[in-house]
Amino acid sequence: MTTITLENLAQSYLKSPSKADEDWALKETNFTFRHGGAYALLGPSGCGKTTLLNIISGLVVPTRGRLKFGDRDVTHASTVSRNISQVFQFPVVYDTMTVGENLAFPLRNRGVAADKIKQRVGQIAELLDLTAVLDKKARNLTPDARQKISLGRGLVRSDVSAILFDEPLTVIDPALKWELRSTLKAVHRELDVTMVYVTHDQTEALTFADTVVVMSDGRVLQSGNAEELYERPAHTFVGNFIGSPGMNFVPAKVSGRSADIAGTAIALPHTYAAMSDAVELGVRPNYARLAEAGSGIPARLIRIEDLGRMRLARVRIADRTLSVTVPDGMTPESETAGVIFDTPRINVYSGGRLVAPD
Ligand code: ATP
Repeated sequence: MTTITLENLAQSYLKSPSKADEDWALKETNFTFRHGGAYALLGPSGCGKTTLLNIISGLVVPTRGRLKFGDRDVTHASTVSRNISQVFQFPVVYDTMTVGENLAFPLRNRGVAADKIKQRVGQIAELLDLTAVLDKKARNLTPDARQKISLGRGLVRSDVSAILFDEPLTVIDPALKWELRSTLKAVHRELDVTMVYVTHDQTEALTFADTVVVMSDGRVLQSGNAEELYERPAHTFVGNFIGSPGMNFVPAKVSGRSADIAGTAIALPHTYAAMSDAVELGVRPNYARLAEAGSGIPARLIRIEDLGRMRLARVRIADRTLSVTVPDGMTPESETAGVIFDTPRINVYSGGRLVAPD
C-alpha cells in the first residue's frame, strides 16, 4: 500500500528564491494521493503540474517540504528506489528492439522469470492492440504505435508504487485517444495501483480520474470528482476552467436568502451572512435560461449560438457577458430579454472563493 503524501512541499527553480509568489513554480502544497486512486493533475500550461509529477518520481528534488510514500520519507530517495513508472509526452522506446523486447524491458531489468514476462507482455500487447506488431522493430512503427509502446512499458509492471503519466496522449490521433483512455482506466482497475495523470485537457482529466486535482499558478485549488468540480467549484478559477463554456459569474449584493443583481432581487438556495468582499454569484450555463423581457433578471441579448444539441445565448448583465441556455422553441427577436437562474444551482463567491452558507 503506498499513500503518497506531500507535506508543505514547494519548488523554486531559482538559486535563492525570495518569498515572492513568482519565484515559486509550486507554492507550499499539502496533499495526499490515496493508494489505488486514479488522479489527474489539471491546469493551464505553466501551473506546476509537471513539477509536482517530477517531485513524486524524483526527477526534481523539492526546495522545501517532505514527500512520503506511506511512512517512508522519500524526499531525497533515488528515483530507482521509489519504484515508480513514468510515461512521458513523447515516446521513449528503444528503436533497435522489437515491440515485445521493449515491453519486456522493465520486467527483465527486475529479474522477472521468462514465462511471467511472456505472459504479461502478451496481456499488455493485447490491451494496447499491439499483438500483431510484437515482433516488429519499434523504429518502423507510426508515432501512435510508438507512444503505445511507451504506455505499455509504463503499465507492464504490476508491483510499482505508482504510475505517473505526463500528457501521454498528446501525440496520439484524436480518434484513438478515447480508446486509450478507457484502456488506461481498465489497467487501473486491474492493477490496484496509484495513477497520477497530468493534462491540461479537462475531458481527458474527467474521463480518466476518480479525483481531479485542479491547479493554477503553482497552487492546488480544489480536488474532487467530476460532480463536485462541476456543481460546487471551490474557486471562480475552477468554475471557469471546468465546463465549456465555463461557469458564469455576476456581481451581486447578498443578504440572507436573497441577492441583488443590478437592482433585481433573486432568491438564493441558502442563507448567507452579510459580506463586504467582492461578491459574485456563479451559475453554469445549463442552469440559467433566457426568458422574455420582464421575466427574471433584465439582460441584453448579444447573439445566439447553435451548438446542435442545444442553443446558447450570450447576454449582458451588470457589465458581464454570460452564456445561458435558450429554451426549445424560443425564437427571441428583441435584444431586450430576461434571464432566469435555477435557484438550487446558484453558488456564492467572495474574493474568488466559494462561500459556505450559514
Ligand atoms: P506545461 O503543461 O506547459 O508543461 P506545467 O503545468 O506542467 O506546464 P511546469 O512545467 O511544472 O508546469 O512549470 C511550472 C513553472 O516552472 C513554469 O513557470 C515553468 O516555466 C517553470 N519551470 C519548469 N521547469 C523548469 C526548469 N527546469 N527550470 C526553470 N523553470 C522551470
